[in-house]
Amino acid sequence: MTDFRLILATGNAHKVDELFAILSPLLPQLAREEIATLSDFRVTPPVEDEVTFAGNALLKARALAAQTGLPCVADDSGLAVEVLGGAPGIFSARWAGKHGDDQANLDLLLAQLADVKPAHRQAAFVCAAALVDPVSGLEAVEVGKLNGVLTDKPRGENGFGYDPIFVPHGFSQTTAELDPQVKNSISHRAVAFTALAPQLLKVLA
Ligand code: IMP
Repeated sequence: MTDFRLILATGNAHKVDELFAILSPLLPQLAREEIATLSDFRVTPPVEDEVTFAGNALLKARALAAQTGLPCVADDSGLAVEVLGGAPGIFSARWAGKHGDDQANLDLLLAQLADVKPAHRQAAFVCAAALVDPVSGLEAVEVGKLNGVLTDKPRGENGFGYDPIFVPHGFSQTTAELDPQVKNSISHRAVAFTALAPQLLKVLA
């Protein structure tokens, strides 16, 4: 059995694939089977009670690094809408009440923005990526953004969450209409994890 060298603080296989696709060109020495996820350990993810993306990402990485003894990478992400002062923000996954109800979250946001003109529908997807190494004590956090505007109706079938109403600057399609590879190359996660890669290189050296 391959020894794990890193744990990603997620149980979502799709997310592991996406993060591995971002990181593997930058970290060729890291094999997919050397990356553990939450399903490989009996660990308890902490309550995410910080008030920023960076705070929550670091909180998760610290807790899971301490419980597993492995370097841990964690992320926290969401949608920040300018006219709502940055909301839904850290509450993006449960904006309509129930955690992970993407359709209800999107419907509520569209209703809240019903009277907001196109010129004022600026928003950004934001991701904070954190790394904690329990051996060296290294802690790092990087924040990535993808700026865009919100449509007034959902368009497209790809992606998840708020993708059907988010058009990145420089594009005419929503991130649910874009080829997933294109979205993944410009995404808030790509920006944050690419920025974190030099620290990961140090930890995995
Ligand atoms: P998480 O921190 O990755 O679990 O994301 C929290 C929430 O933010 C998700 O449930 C989505 O509602 C929203 N979100 C984060 N990233 C994206 C994205 O790339 N597209 C659409 N919605 C996203």
